Amino acid sequence: KLHNQVEDAKGNIRVFCRCRPLSKSESSTGCSTVVDFDAASNGELGILNSGSTKKTFKFDRVFTPNDNQVDVFSQASPLVTSVLDGYNVCIFAYGQTGTGKTFTMEGTEGNRGVNYRTLEELFKTAKERIDTFTYDISVSVLEVYNEQIRDLLTTSSSKKLEIKQASEGLHNIPGLVEAKVENIQQVWNVLRAGSSARAVGSNNVNEHSSRSHCMLCIMVKAKNLINGECTRSKLWLVDLAGSERLGKTEAQGERLKEAQNINRSLSALGDVISALANKSSHIPYRNSKLTHLLQDSLGGDSKTLMFVQISPSEHDLSETLSSLNFATRVR
Ligand code: ADP
Ligand code: MG
Repeated sequence: KLHNQVEDAKGNIRVFCRCRPLSKSESSTGCSTVVDFDAASNGELGILNSGSTKKTFKFDRVFTPNDNQVDVFSQASPLVTSVLDGYNVCIFAYGQTGTGKTFTMEGTEGNRGVNYRTLEELFKTAKERIDTFTYDISVSVLEVYNEQIRDLLTTSSSKKLEIKQASEGLHNIPGLVEAKVENIQQVWNVLRAGSSARAVGSNNVNEHSSRSHCMLCIMVKAKNLINGECTRSKLWLVDLAGSERLGKTEAQGERLKEAQNINRSLSALGDVISALANKSSHIPYRNSKLTHLLQDSLGGDSKTLMFVQISPSEHDLSETLSSLNFATRVR
């Protein structure tokens, strides 16, 4: 029995690796790739170091540049639908800026990512269960920048948001907008509103988004029509800030402060997940806003999926190794 519990707990954290294709400019400049996908179907990824030594990393799944958004979502969708069974779930994308975190989570209008497909799947499955369950689904969109939480679904920017522990042990953020959504069109509008709010007040949207965590929270209230039982569960979908280290010339002023906050929250996330994977008695959720927010959906019987995003380019080798090492630590 104990053995099974241990197995189950380990089974609650999955790590997928996704490698983006070489960009047009990388290909045209003859940039070579350091990633070897020969054993990708076994979840193995090879990294060719200079001097032709190969280092192998193991994942629950490896997505090559040939895998598309549908391939990726098909592996994530069982996790997503378990939120309708009352589980808390957390899916996040980790990696250096430019490796496809936003592509995986948000996607593009013609090639939608995990966020949109998740909600589409939730509505579809909820509809199939209409005779036995009613579901209330609502969405919050927020951003964590420099350890401050910002609600992206409101225009009153003065409101300071803090995390409170509610009576049943669940955490909530008083004042955070929870938009009720009843169909996928409403979802699309909410997601669009969130993205445009993100741009407000920053002179470079791309830079700003690579330095903040973008977080989508889907709250599900389920009522079983047969026995009257009600459950609440939460699904977090997170596009993390870029994990790259600072260049020497940037290491000052505002940029340095941002980088320190990013470092702090990403290492806090790594610490929490590795403490969970190692069955540690103390899980340090309180060390960053990010982990504190995700607390209900990391650990316990909740399910976690991490996408480690990497670049195939030789120029990104050191950041790629650092992301793969981060992933190894939490696995
Ligand atoms: P990040 O959010 O990690 O900074 P992006 O998602 O913005 O990275 O991706 C950088 C660029 O690479 C974008 O132009 C994106 O469309 C492209 N890209 C990333 N992953 C893929 C992929 N798997 N297939 C095709 N293009 C991709
Ligand atoms: Mg991005």
